Amino acid sequence: MKRLLVLIALFVAVFGKKTFEGDQVFRITPKDEAQIDLLKELTEEGEHLGLSVWMEPILESLPLDLHVPFHSLQAVRAFLAYNQIPYHIMIENVQELLDDEQRDMVKYRGLARSTDDFVYTTYHDLNSINSFMDMLVAENRNMVSKVVIGQSYEKRPLNVLKFSTGANRPGIWIDTGIHSREWVTQASGVWFAKKIVKDYGRDPVLTDILNSHDIFLEIVTNPDGFVYTHTKDRMWRKTRKPNPGSSCVGVDPNRNWDAGFGGGGSSNNPCTETYRGPSAHSEPEVKAIVDFVKSHGKIKAFVSIHSYSQMLLYPYGYTYTAAKDKAELHEVARKAITSLQSLYNTRYTYGSIITTIYQASGGTIDWTYNQGIKYSYTFELRDTGRYGFILPANQIVPTAEETWLALMAIMEHTKNNPY
Ligand SMILES: [Zn+2]
Repeated sequence: MKRLLVLIALFVAVFGKKTFEGDQVFRITPKDEAQIDLLKELTEEGEHLGLSVWMEPILESLPLDLHVPFHSLQAVRAFLAYNQIPYHIMIENVQELLDDEQRDMVKYRGLARSTDDFVYTTYHDLNSINSFMDMLVAENRNMVSKVVIGQSYEKRPLNVLKFSTGANRPGIWIDTGIHSREWVTQASGVWFAKKIVKDYGRDPVLTDILNSHDIFLEIVTNPDGFVYTHTKDRMWRKTRKPNPGSSCVGVDPNRNWDAGFGGGGSSNNPCTETYRGPSAHSEPEVKAIVDFVKSHGKIKAFVSIHSYSQMLLYPYGYTYTAAKDKAELHEVARKAITSLQSLYNTRYTYGSIITTIYQASGGTIDWTYNQGIKYSYTFELRDTGRYGFILPANQIVPTAEETWLALMAIMEHTKNNPY
Protein backbone atom coordinates (compact mmCIF):
# COMPACT_ATOMS: atom_id res chain seq x y z
CA MET A 1 0.00 0.00 0.00
CA LYS A 2 2.79 2.37 0.99
CA ARG A 3 4.64 1.62 -2.21
CA LEU A 4 1.48 2.28 -4.17
CA LEU A 5 1.05 5.67 -2.52
CA VAL A 6 4.64 6.57 -3.33
CA LEU A 7 4.03 5.56 -6.92
CA ILE A 8 0.90 7.68 -7.09
CA ALA A 9 2.77 10.66 -5.62
CA LEU A 10 5.51 10.18 -8.20
CA PHE A 11 2.96 9.98 -10.99
CA VAL A 12 1.32 13.21 -9.89
CA ALA A 13 4.71 14.93 -9.55
CA VAL A 14 5.74 13.87 -13.05
CA PHE A 15 2.48 14.41 -14.88
CA GLY A 16 0.97 17.01 -12.58
CA LYS A 17 -2.58 15.86 -13.00
CA LYS A 18 -4.89 16.46 -10.08
CA THR A 19 -6.44 13.32 -8.64
CA PHE A 20 -9.72 13.03 -6.80
CA GLU A 21 -9.22 9.78 -4.89
CA GLY A 22 -11.85 9.42 -2.18
CA ASP A 23 -13.53 12.74 -3.04
CA GLN A 24 -17.29 12.67 -2.81
CA VAL A 25 -20.21 14.67 -4.17
CA PHE A 26 -22.88 15.50 -1.60
CA ARG A 27 -26.42 16.49 -2.47
CA ILE A 28 -27.46 18.87 0.27
CA THR A 29 -31.11 19.87 0.75
CA PRO A 30 -31.45 22.82 3.12
CA LYS A 31 -34.75 23.04 5.01
CA ASP A 32 -35.02 26.80 5.41
CA GLU A 33 -33.40 30.21 4.79
CA ALA A 34 -31.15 29.84 7.83
CA GLN A 35 -29.67 26.63 6.47
CA ILE A 36 -29.25 28.21 3.02
CA ASP A 37 -27.25 31.01 4.66
CA LEU A 38 -25.11 28.50 6.55
CA LEU A 39 -24.34 26.72 3.28
CA LYS A 40 -23.41 30.00 1.65
CA GLU A 41 -20.94 30.59 4.45
CA LEU A 42 -19.57 27.09 4.08
CA THR A 43 -19.00 27.41 0.33
CA GLU A 44 -17.82 31.02 0.32
CA GLU A 45 -15.64 31.05 3.39
CA GLY A 46 -14.46 27.48 3.34
CA GLU A 47 -11.79 28.06 0.70
CA HIS A 48 -9.24 26.01 2.63
CA LEU A 49 -11.62 23.06 2.42
CA GLY A 50 -11.26 23.02 -1.39
CA LEU A 51 -15.01 22.67 -1.93
CA SER A 52 -16.44 22.98 -5.41
CA VAL A 53 -20.07 23.71 -6.13
CA TRP A 54 -21.31 21.50 -8.97
CA MET A 55 -24.91 22.63 -8.94
CA GLU A 56 -25.19 25.98 -7.38
CA PRO A 57 -28.84 26.75 -6.80
CA ILE A 58 -28.81 27.98 -3.24
CA LEU A 59 -32.46 28.69 -3.68
CA GLU A 60 -35.29 27.22 -1.74
CA SER A 61 -36.62 23.91 -3.05
CA LEU A 62 -33.43 23.18 -4.99
CA PRO A 63 -30.57 21.10 -3.66
CA LEU A 64 -26.90 21.97 -3.70
CA ASP A 65 -24.42 19.49 -5.18
CA LEU A 66 -21.07 19.91 -3.50
CA HIS A 67 -17.79 18.25 -4.46
CA VAL A 68 -15.91 17.59 -1.21
CA PRO A 69 -12.22 16.62 -1.33
CA PHE A 70 -11.27 13.55 0.70
CA HIS A 71 -9.35 15.63 3.25
CA SER A 72 -12.42 17.77 3.98
CA LEU A 73 -15.02 15.00 4.24
CA GLN A 74 -14.93 14.87 8.01
CA ALA A 75 -15.17 18.62 8.48
CA VAL A 76 -18.10 18.97 6.06
CA ARG A 77 -19.95 15.98 7.52
CA ALA A 78 -19.52 17.44 11.01
CA PHE A 79 -20.73 20.87 9.85
CA LEU A 80 -23.85 19.42 8.23
CA ALA A 81 -24.62 17.17 11.19
CA TYR A 82 -24.10 19.94 13.74
CA ASN A 83 -26.49 22.22 11.83
CA GLN A 84 -28.89 19.36 11.10
CA ILE A 85 -28.79 20.00 7.36
CA PRO A 86 -30.00 16.96 5.39
CA TYR A 87 -27.74 15.50 2.68
CA HIS A 88 -26.91 12.31 0.89
CA ILE A 89 -23.99 11.12 -1.18
CA MET A 90 -24.41 11.26 -4.96
CA ILE A 91 -20.89 10.12 -5.92
CA GLU A 92 -18.94 7.83 -3.60
CA ASN A 93 -15.53 8.28 -5.20
CA VAL A 94 -15.01 10.90 -7.90
CA GLN A 95 -11.71 9.38 -9.04
CA GLU A 96 -13.34 6.02 -9.76
CA LEU A 97 -15.64 7.64 -12.33
CA LEU A 98 -12.71 9.53 -13.84
CA ASP A 99 -10.72 6.30 -14.15
CA ASP A 100 -13.61 4.72 -16.06
CA GLU A 101 -13.75 7.78 -18.32
CA GLN A 102 -9.99 7.59 -19.02
CA ARG A 103 -10.06 3.85 -19.73
CA ASP A 104 -12.77 4.44 -22.30
CA MET A 105 -10.84 7.27 -23.99
CA VAL A 106 -7.63 5.26 -24.16
CA LYS A 107 -9.48 2.45 -25.95
CA TYR A 108 -10.22 4.77 -28.87
CA ARG A 109 -7.03 6.82 -28.92
CA GLY A 110 -5.63 7.69 -32.31
CA LEU A 111 -6.89 10.10 -34.89
CA ALA A 112 -9.69 9.08 -37.20
CA ARG A 113 -9.08 9.43 -40.94
CA SER A 114 -12.55 10.67 -41.73
CA THR A 115 -15.62 11.89 -39.88
CA ASP A 116 -17.22 8.55 -40.72
CA ASP A 117 -14.74 6.59 -38.62
CA PHE A 118 -14.52 9.20 -35.89
CA VAL A 119 -15.68 7.64 -32.58
CA TYR A 120 -18.68 9.64 -31.39
CA THR A 121 -19.21 7.41 -28.36
CA THR A 122 -16.14 8.51 -26.40
CA TYR A 123 -14.69 11.80 -25.15
CA HIS A 124 -11.98 13.54 -27.17
CA ASP A 125 -9.27 16.09 -26.45
CA LEU A 126 -8.81 19.40 -28.27
CA ASN A 127 -6.45 18.02 -30.94
CA SER A 128 -8.88 15.31 -31.82
CA ILE A 129 -11.84 17.71 -32.03
CA ASN A 130 -9.79 20.16 -34.12
CA SER A 131 -8.87 17.38 -36.50
CA PHE A 132 -12.55 16.35 -36.66
CA MET A 133 -13.48 19.90 -37.66
CA ASP A 134 -10.81 20.07 -40.35
CA MET A 135 -11.95 16.74 -41.80
CA LEU A 136 -15.59 17.82 -41.79
CA VAL A 137 -14.67 21.01 -43.67
CA ALA A 138 -12.53 19.08 -46.17
CA GLU A 139 -15.30 16.55 -46.78
CA ASN A 140 -18.04 19.17 -47.25
CA ARG A 141 -16.40 22.18 -48.85
CA ASN A 142 -19.63 23.37 -50.45
CA MET A 143 -21.41 23.66 -47.10
CA VAL A 144 -18.99 23.80 -44.17
CA SER A 145 -16.23 26.27 -43.44
CA LYS A 146 -14.21 27.20 -40.38
CA VAL A 147 -14.36 30.75 -39.13
CA VAL A 148 -11.77 31.87 -36.57
CA ILE A 149 -13.53 34.52 -34.48
CA GLY A 150 -10.63 35.32 -32.17
CA GLN A 151 -8.00 33.90 -29.88
CA SER A 152 -8.17 32.54 -26.36
CA TYR A 153 -5.99 33.97 -23.58
CA GLU A 154 -3.41 31.23 -24.26
CA LYS A 155 -3.55 32.10 -27.98
CA ARG A 156 -5.59 29.18 -29.21
CA PRO A 157 -7.84 29.91 -32.20
CA LEU A 158 -11.54 30.22 -31.40
CA ASN A 159 -12.94 28.04 -34.17
CA VAL A 160 -16.54 28.24 -35.31
CA LEU A 161 -18.02 25.90 -37.90
CA LYS A 162 -20.21 27.69 -40.42
CA PHE A 163 -22.86 25.67 -42.24
CA SER A 164 -24.14 27.64 -45.19
CA THR A 165 -25.82 27.02 -48.52
CA GLY A 166 -26.13 30.61 -49.73
CA ALA A 167 -24.99 34.17 -49.17
CA ASN A 168 -26.41 36.85 -46.87
CA ARG A 169 -28.58 34.69 -44.72
CA PRO A 170 -29.73 35.25 -41.14
CA GLY A 171 -27.82 33.12 -38.64
CA ILE A 172 -28.47 30.62 -35.89
CA TRP A 173 -25.74 30.29 -33.24
CA ILE A 174 -25.01 27.24 -31.09
CA ASP A 175 -22.12 27.00 -28.62
CA THR A 176 -20.95 24.17 -26.39
CA GLY A 177 -18.25 23.93 -23.76
CA ILE A 178 -18.06 27.51 -22.49
CA HIS A 179 -17.66 25.77 -19.12
CA SER A 180 -14.80 23.43 -19.85
CA ARG A 181 -15.63 20.56 -17.49
CA GLU A 182 -19.06 20.00 -19.03
CA TRP A 183 -17.64 17.41 -21.40
CA VAL A 184 -20.91 16.02 -22.69
CA THR A 185 -21.56 19.40 -24.30
CA GLN A 186 -18.45 19.52 -26.52
CA ALA A 187 -19.01 15.85 -27.38
CA SER A 188 -22.59 16.66 -28.36
CA GLY A 189 -21.37 19.61 -30.43
CA VAL A 190 -19.21 17.25 -32.47
CA TRP A 191 -22.19 14.97 -33.03
CA PHE A 192 -24.42 17.93 -34.07
CA ALA A 193 -21.85 18.98 -36.68
CA LYS A 194 -21.86 15.55 -38.31
CA LYS A 195 -25.66 15.35 -38.02
CA ILE A 196 -26.09 18.61 -39.95
CA VAL A 197 -24.08 17.43 -42.95
CA LYS A 198 -25.74 14.00 -42.88
CA ASP A 199 -29.29 15.38 -42.74
CA TYR A 200 -29.01 18.21 -45.25
CA GLY A 201 -30.88 17.13 -48.36
CA ARG A 202 -32.47 14.21 -46.47
CA ASP A 203 -34.38 15.71 -43.56
CA PRO A 204 -36.82 18.21 -45.14
CA VAL A 205 -37.04 20.41 -42.04
CA LEU A 206 -33.27 20.77 -41.62
CA THR A 207 -32.93 21.28 -45.36
CA ASP A 208 -35.45 24.14 -45.20
CA ILE A 209 -33.61 25.66 -42.24
CA LEU A 210 -30.27 25.51 -44.04
CA ASN A 211 -31.78 26.84 -47.26
CA SER A 212 -32.79 30.00 -45.44
CA HIS A 213 -30.35 30.32 -42.50
CA ASP A 214 -26.67 29.76 -41.74
CA ILE A 215 -25.81 27.74 -38.65
CA PHE A 216 -22.74 28.71 -36.60
CA LEU A 217 -21.42 26.12 -34.16
CA GLU A 218 -18.63 26.81 -31.67
CA ILE A 219 -17.78 23.41 -30.20
CA VAL A 220 -14.89 24.27 -27.88
CA THR A 221 -15.87 27.72 -26.68
CA ASN A 222 -13.32 27.74 -23.84
CA PRO A 223 -10.31 25.91 -25.36
CA ASP A 224 -7.80 26.86 -22.62
CA GLY A 225 -10.10 25.50 -19.94
CA PHE A 226 -10.79 22.42 -22.05
CA VAL A 227 -7.09 21.59 -22.48
CA TYR A 228 -6.67 22.12 -18.74
CA THR A 229 -9.46 19.62 -17.98
CA HIS A 230 -7.55 17.05 -20.02
CA THR A 231 -4.07 17.73 -18.70
CA LYS A 232 -4.33 19.10 -15.15
CA ASP A 233 -7.73 19.27 -13.53
CA ARG A 234 -10.76 17.50 -14.98
CA MET A 235 -13.05 19.66 -12.85
CA TRP A 236 -11.94 23.05 -14.24
CA ARG A 237 -14.86 25.34 -15.18
CA LYS A 238 -13.45 28.81 -15.86
CA THR A 239 -11.11 30.45 -18.35
CA ARG A 240 -7.35 30.32 -17.69
CA LYS A 241 -6.43 33.99 -17.51
CA PRO A 242 -4.44 34.89 -14.37
CA ASN A 243 -6.00 37.43 -12.01
CA PRO A 244 -3.64 40.24 -10.98
CA GLY A 245 -3.17 40.30 -7.21
CA SER A 246 -4.53 36.81 -6.73
CA SER A 247 -3.05 33.34 -6.96
CA CYS A 248 -6.38 32.06 -8.28
CA VAL A 249 -6.77 31.75 -12.03
CA GLY A 250 -9.69 32.22 -14.39
CA VAL A 251 -13.03 33.90 -14.85
CA ASP A 252 -16.47 32.34 -15.14
CA PRO A 253 -17.24 33.07 -18.81
CA ASN A 254 -20.95 32.76 -18.09
CA ARG A 255 -20.86 35.67 -15.63
CA ASN A 256 -18.70 37.92 -17.80
CA TRP A 257 -21.31 39.36 -20.20
CA ASP A 258 -22.60 42.90 -20.17
CA ALA A 259 -26.07 42.08 -18.87
CA GLY A 260 -26.58 42.92 -15.22
CA PHE A 261 -22.80 42.49 -14.91
CA GLY A 262 -21.73 42.40 -11.28
CA GLY A 263 -25.18 41.62 -9.91
CA GLY A 264 -26.43 38.78 -7.74
CA GLY A 265 -25.34 35.24 -8.53
CA SER A 266 -21.85 36.30 -9.57
CA SER A 267 -18.78 36.81 -7.42
CA ASN A 268 -16.04 39.41 -7.18
CA ASN A 269 -13.67 36.89 -5.60
CA PRO A 270 -11.23 35.43 -8.16
CA CYS A 271 -11.00 32.24 -6.12
CA THR A 272 -14.64 31.31 -6.62
CA GLU A 273 -16.11 29.33 -9.51
CA THR A 274 -18.49 32.18 -10.39
CA TYR A 275 -15.90 34.98 -10.51
CA ARG A 276 -17.26 37.50 -12.99
CA GLY A 277 -13.93 39.04 -14.00
CA PRO A 278 -12.67 42.63 -13.66
CA SER A 279 -15.12 44.04 -16.22
CA ALA A 280 -17.77 42.93 -18.69
CA HIS A 281 -16.31 41.15 -21.74
CA SER A 282 -12.86 41.05 -20.13
CA GLU A 283 -12.39 37.47 -21.35
CA PRO A 284 -11.22 37.13 -24.97
CA GLU A 285 -13.39 34.02 -25.37
CA VAL A 286 -16.47 36.12 -24.52
CA LYS A 287 -15.39 39.24 -26.39
CA ALA A 288 -14.88 37.24 -29.58
CA ILE A 289 -18.52 36.12 -29.56
CA VAL A 290 -19.72 39.64 -28.70
CA ASP A 291 -17.81 41.07 -31.67
CA PHE A 292 -18.99 38.30 -33.95
CA VAL A 293 -22.66 38.70 -33.03
CA LYS A 294 -22.51 42.50 -33.43
CA SER A 295 -20.70 42.44 -36.75
CA HIS A 296 -22.95 39.70 -38.15
CA GLY A 297 -26.04 41.71 -37.23
CA LYS A 298 -28.58 39.05 -38.24
CA ILE A 299 -28.32 36.30 -35.63
CA LYS A 300 -31.91 35.23 -34.99
CA ALA A 301 -31.44 32.39 -32.51
CA PHE A 302 -28.66 31.89 -29.98
CA VAL A 303 -28.34 28.67 -28.02
CA SER A 304 -25.64 28.21 -25.38
CA ILE A 305 -25.26 24.66 -24.12
CA HIS A 306 -24.20 23.61 -20.62
CA SER A 307 -24.55 20.62 -18.34
CA TYR A 308 -25.93 19.35 -16.01
CA SER A 309 -29.47 19.25 -14.55
CA GLN A 310 -31.76 18.74 -17.60
CA MET A 311 -33.20 22.20 -18.07
CA LEU A 312 -34.08 24.47 -20.96
CA LEU A 313 -33.88 28.10 -19.94
CA TYR A 314 -34.60 31.50 -21.43
CA PRO A 315 -33.91 35.07 -20.18
CA TYR A 316 -33.63 36.56 -17.73
CA GLY A 317 -31.09 35.43 -15.18
CA TYR A 318 -30.15 38.77 -13.67
CA THR A 319 -33.59 40.27 -13.14
CA TYR A 320 -37.07 39.16 -12.12
CA THR A 321 -38.50 41.41 -14.85
CA ALA A 322 -40.03 39.06 -17.39
CA ALA A 323 -38.61 39.03 -20.91
CA LYS A 324 -41.06 40.78 -23.22
CA ASP A 325 -41.33 37.65 -25.38
CA LYS A 326 -41.74 35.39 -22.39
CA ALA A 327 -44.99 33.76 -23.54
CA GLU A 328 -43.52 32.78 -26.91
CA LEU A 329 -40.17 31.68 -25.45
CA HIS A 330 -42.02 29.54 -22.94
CA GLU A 331 -44.15 27.91 -25.62
CA VAL A 332 -41.15 27.17 -27.85
CA ALA A 333 -39.32 25.70 -24.84
CA ARG A 334 -42.30 23.48 -24.11
CA LYS A 335 -42.34 22.23 -27.70
CA ALA A 336 -38.58 21.66 -27.62
CA ILE A 337 -38.55 19.59 -24.44
CA THR A 338 -41.61 17.62 -25.52
CA SER A 339 -39.72 16.67 -28.64
CA LEU A 340 -36.58 15.90 -26.61
CA GLN A 341 -38.49 13.69 -24.22
CA SER A 342 -40.12 11.72 -27.04
CA LEU A 343 -36.88 9.86 -27.79
CA TYR A 344 -35.66 8.40 -24.48
CA ASN A 345 -38.16 9.85 -22.04
CA THR A 346 -35.56 12.19 -20.56
CA ARG A 347 -37.38 14.73 -18.45
CA TYR A 348 -36.51 18.41 -18.57
CA THR A 349 -37.77 21.39 -16.64
CA TYR A 350 -37.98 24.76 -18.35
CA GLY A 351 -38.57 28.44 -17.67
CA SER A 352 -36.65 31.65 -17.17
CA ILE A 353 -33.23 31.28 -15.57
CA ILE A 354 -34.00 33.24 -12.43
CA THR A 355 -37.27 31.44 -11.67
CA THR A 356 -36.12 27.95 -12.67
CA ILE A 357 -32.57 27.64 -11.45
CA TYR A 358 -31.07 30.64 -9.64
CA GLN A 359 -30.15 34.27 -10.06
CA ALA A 360 -27.16 34.53 -12.37
CA SER A 361 -25.89 37.91 -13.56
CA GLY A 362 -23.70 38.54 -16.58
CA GLY A 363 -24.90 35.41 -18.37
CA THR A 364 -24.59 34.79 -22.10
CA ILE A 365 -28.20 34.67 -23.20
CA ASP A 366 -29.31 37.71 -21.21
CA TRP A 367 -26.81 39.68 -23.25
CA THR A 368 -27.85 38.14 -26.57
CA TYR A 369 -31.51 38.72 -25.77
CA ASN A 370 -30.85 42.37 -24.93
CA GLN A 371 -29.04 42.61 -28.28
CA GLY A 372 -32.35 41.78 -29.95
CA ILE A 373 -31.86 38.04 -30.48
CA LYS A 374 -35.32 36.89 -29.54
CA TYR A 375 -34.74 33.15 -29.52
CA SER A 376 -32.04 33.02 -26.86
CA TYR A 377 -31.82 29.77 -24.91
CA THR A 378 -29.54 27.88 -22.57
CA PHE A 379 -29.58 24.13 -22.15
CA GLU A 380 -28.39 22.18 -19.15
CA LEU A 381 -27.92 18.68 -20.58
CA ARG A 382 -27.90 15.31 -18.77
CA ASP A 383 -27.96 14.18 -16.10
CA THR A 384 -29.66 15.25 -12.86
CA GLY A 385 -26.66 14.50 -10.66
CA ARG A 386 -26.03 10.76 -10.57
CA TYR A 387 -22.81 11.37 -12.52
CA GLY A 388 -22.95 15.16 -12.88
CA PHE A 389 -20.04 16.40 -15.00
CA ILE A 390 -18.62 12.88 -15.33
CA LEU A 391 -21.41 11.55 -17.51
CA PRO A 392 -20.39 8.10 -18.78
CA ALA A 393 -19.36 8.07 -22.44
CA ASN A 394 -22.14 5.65 -23.36
CA GLN A 395 -24.58 8.50 -22.74
CA ILE A 396 -22.94 10.92 -25.21
CA VAL A 397 -24.83 9.86 -28.32
CA PRO A 398 -28.26 9.48 -26.66
CA THR A 399 -27.77 12.90 -25.06
CA ALA A 400 -26.81 14.47 -28.40
CA GLU A 401 -29.67 12.73 -30.24
CA GLU A 402 -32.38 13.92 -27.88
CA THR A 403 -30.91 17.42 -27.60
CA TRP A 404 -30.85 17.64 -31.39
CA LEU A 405 -34.64 17.19 -31.46
CA ALA A 406 -35.02 20.17 -29.12
CA LEU A 407 -32.59 22.24 -31.21
CA MET A 408 -34.55 21.37 -34.32
CA ALA A 409 -37.76 22.59 -32.66
CA ILE A 410 -36.11 25.92 -31.78
CA MET A 411 -34.53 26.30 -35.23
CA GLU A 412 -37.74 25.41 -37.05
CA HIS A 413 -39.68 27.94 -35.01
CA THR A 414 -37.01 30.55 -35.81
CA LYS A 415 -37.31 29.77 -39.50
CA ASN A 416 -41.11 29.98 -39.45
CA ASN A 417 -41.22 33.23 -37.46
CA PRO A 418 -38.94 35.77 -39.11
CA TYR A 419 -38.59 39.06 -37.26
ZN1 LIG B 1 -22.12 25.51 -17.33
